[in-house]
Amino acid sequence: MSLPPVVRHQYDAVIVGAGGAGLMAALEASKGCRVAVASKLYPTRSHTGTAQGGIGAALGNLESDRWEWHMFDTVKGGDYLCDQDAVEIMCQEAIEVVYDLEHMGLPFNRTPEGKIDQRRFGGHTIEFGKAPVRRSCYAADRTGHMILQTLYQQCIKRGVEFFDEFRLIDLLIQDGRCGGLIALCLATGELHLFHAKAVLLATGGFGRMYKVTSNAHTLTGDGCAIAFRRGVPLEDMEFFQFHPTGIHKLGILITEGARGEGGILRNGKGERFMERYAPTLLDLAPRDMVSRAIYREIREGRGIQGRDYVHLDLTHLDPAVVERKLPDITDFVRTYLGINPVKEAIPCQPTAHYAMGGIPTNVNAQVVIDADNSPLPGLYAAGECACVSVHGANRLGTNSLVDIVVFGRRGGRHIAQQISKLDLPPLSADAQGRAQEETSRLMSNLGGESAARIRAELQQVMMDHASVYREERGLKEALAAIAALRSRYRRVDVSDKSMRFNTELEEALELGYLLDLSWVTVVAALERRESRGAHSREDFPTRDDAHWLKHSLAFASNGTIRFDSKPVSITRFQPQERKY
Ligand SMILES: Cc1cc2nc3c(=O)[nH]c(=O)nc-3n(C[C@H](O)[C@H](O)[C@H](O)COP(=O)(O)OP(=O)(O)OC[C@H]3O[C@@H](n4cnc5c(N)ncnc54)[C@H](O)[C@@H]3O)c2cc1C
Repeated sequence: MSLPPVVRHQYDAVIVGAGGAGLMAALEASKGCRVAVASKLYPTRSHTGTAQGGIGAALGNLESDRWEWHMFDTVKGGDYLCDQDAVEIMCQEAIEVVYDLEHMGLPFNRTPEGKIDQRRFGGHTIEFGKAPVRRSCYAADRTGHMILQTLYQQCIKRGVEFFDEFRLIDLLIQDGRCGGLIALCLATGELHLFHAKAVLLATGGFGRMYKVTSNAHTLTGDGCAIAFRRGVPLEDMEFFQFHPTGIHKLGILITEGARGEGGILRNGKGERFMERYAPTLLDLAPRDMVSRAIYREIREGRGIQGRDYVHLDLTHLDPAVVERKLPDITDFVRTYLGINPVKEAIPCQPTAHYAMGGIPTNVNAQVVIDADNSPLPGLYAAGECACVSVHGANRLGTNSLVDIVVFGRRGGRHIAQQISKLDLPPLSADAQGRAQEETSRLMSNLGGESAARIRAELQQVMMDHASVYREERGLKEALAAIAALRSRYRRVDVSDKSMRFNTELEEALELGYLLDLSWVTVVAALERRESRGAHSREDFPTRDDAHWLKHSLAFASNGTIRFDSKPVSITRFQPQERKY
């Protein structure tokens, strides 16, 4: 097959991804330099647009609140693996960024006096854990949608150039710095080389490793996997969050906002079982704890009719409030389950939701590549693909939207400030070589393996052995299964040989990323012999600060994975026992 032609572009900065992190970074960077955004999706279709519950900021509009309490909750919620210097910045800047978004036109729900309304969310408390606090700023259950629309408008206004349906397939890292990237254009099948002084990855998460997930079909971790293949380590990959309330079997998310508004979880006996697991915060305990509690209830035979789900009960709430504050999720439940959530309880099970791990960065979103946090010049990352690390071992609800706008903005600002001091790094003559090789290999394969089949098997293996509970035997089985799937992947056949809109080729590429990230996740989960946050080892059931209060760094190393670790930044809050 002949190689596709390469089209060349030159920008000061290229942002990859047009979710909340990418758009915020582009907006800020555009204040100091010429910026392009390359996104495999049309910007407003990014997963940020599905975020329902809200964005946390200690505005104190309805009751007293302080950023220090937000910081404490985040650190405790993250089981003390969060870098506290980064959390401090996030909780302080959250307040300013929410007001910035308001001034850009984001239509938040309002209190009767016209202030931004706020609601309760899991793990967010008043006075260091005393009781739930109203901290989540929201626009009905469409907060993320409103963030995307608002930021996209602002980017267009500032003249940011968009390359929609352009997919990153390689990063150009040479002589220890990043000088651009290669993207595949969906419409034409051409490769595009973007030569730039700075590249910021904002490619989102990778929940599609799992069978039951709240994540969109496109969340395949492309940026993380490509960076990993080019020598960048991945941090804390053993921590993957399961959200307690996915719609049974489908995984579609029912926001924690439903419990924030007073919804209750019940088992097959009708009991409010969270009373046993988190007597103070009950249904608003952090997600890792609630997901484990649901698994326990199910295992001990107290699922609904002994089956693998529990109920989320909203029937005692005022139907008008449910319809007004949670319109989209009530719609989902009616559409997908055919039940009326104001009259009947909703069947729920934990659903793979959020990657705490990812590409290591410092607080300016610069990618750092070793235990000493040395930056890789020219490469940035922000949002769910990055690990800064503000979420530690378990993220609190509403904190991802904060993370993406705070660190997206910091990354964009840093680029704008640094750009005049940077030169365009030279690129080798065959900079596009690896990308051409990968796509033409996939296109010319005749191995007869189907990407869809391998992906389904992978998702089942990850669900069975690397989800809410893990143990050595299951993880080793998963490792062997993934090795077999990785070797079958080398024979994956792309039967569509056309250049235009070749979504089959795109899915084959995405499967490669999912296989790599699943592999790293399982190996990292085997390495960490303790239970912390979302990583719960049945064979090592307690947290072990003496040995494991550290971040893991996984490096690709000649076909294997090499591990290193780096210390956790602890500034204000010493690790304590985690009770709610
Ligand atoms: C259903 C759901 C509800 C949620 N609700 C909340 C909530 O209420 N509050 C909260 O704080 N968090 C919530 N989250 C989490 C939060 O929404 C996400 O973590 C966050 O929006 C991620 O933003 P992002 O900008 O990093 O990535 P995304 O919004 O996922 O965007 C990723 C971007 O990268 C692009 N991209 C990916 N790969 C490539 C590639 N190879 N080449 C080019 N472009 C690429 C995509 O086109 C897309 O534009 C929710 C998540 C889900 C799934």
